[in-house]
Amino acid sequence: MVLGGGGAKGAQSWRGRMEGAAFDGMLSSVEVSRDVMQTCLAHALTTEREEVMGLLLGDIEEDGQGAAVARVWRLSFQRRVDRRPDRVEISPEQLAAAAEEAARWTEETRRVTRVIGWYHSHPHITALPSHVDVQTQGNFQLLDRGFIGLIFSVFSSLPDSTSRMQMVGFQSVSAPSAGGGPPVFSQRLVPVSVAETAEGGDRAPTRLVELQRVQLAEEREAYAEALAAVASATADGPPDSRAADLGIAFHSAIYQKVLCGILAHSLPPLAQALHDRKQHHAREIAALEAELADCELAEAEMRLSGAAISVPAQQAAAPY
Ligand SMILES: [Zn+2]
Repeated sequence: MVLGGGGAKGAQSWRGRMEGAAFDGMLSSVEVSRDVMQTCLAHALTTEREEVMGLLLGDIEEDGQGAAVARVWRLSFQRRVDRRPDRVEISPEQLAAAAEEAARWTEETRRVTRVIGWYHSHPHITALPSHVDVQTQGNFQLLDRGFIGLIFSVFSSLPDSTSRMQMVGFQSVSAPSAGGGPPVFSQRLVPVSVAETAEGGDRAPTRLVELQRVQLAEEREAYAEALAAVASATADGPPDSRAADLGIAFHSAIYQKVLCGILAHSLPPLAQALHDRKQHHAREIAALEAELADCELAEAEMRLSGAAISVPAQQAAAPY
């Protein structure tokens, strides 16, 4: 299974770090770009019925002393293969697709990017990893020891009727297994910080639109499967039966309700992301205009001082 990405350049960078490194795979912290954090939260808030998940793209930076920081600047959204409310799973195909996406991003931005972790949501429950999460994380670390997991707890109600969102970063530590069985892991929480989005990183508005496309495609597929099931179940029924019509009407109503739900969940964060972006651009424009005004002032002063010098020269050169 390939967790990398970043093509040959990425592989070279990783090998280079491993050669003289005392890094044991235990990260000192994880740094997530502001836009990625915004997109992850918006994704987690799209549904309170099921867990959602995606993969984290970025790189791991070592300090040469054994400590390392995971930096995340891009996400890879995954279509859910298993829609149980309390479980998310990542298939090898999804990992391979994310690694390809990382390689493409490396080519596009010239910033070495690879798959370095995963995130998922915990609707209505604590952000702490479950036993299954810790095992899944431990198995990832067997493939790539610096792998990181993030969990977003959403839709949790507090006694005062407010809701709470929490997020944790974690890794797994393997404990000796009894009798040579499969490895047993325990959780290790990793501090998380948010950094400004740098060049070559995800922008929340663009990714939120892509996320909406992925979710619409998932629902379209589920709707098509439901219609096929109705057709198959009613194929041998009496010709005047209205069972097929009722089945189609039922699933169409569900489909439309779900589409409205996706729009209701995805448009507010998208509007907020666009608003944030507009404010960011307004600040940049103001800074550039101030810089331009300074340049124009300096140019005017230079012209004035040049004119002051040139007047006596012209007078001196005049024949009368
Ligand atoms: Zn979980």
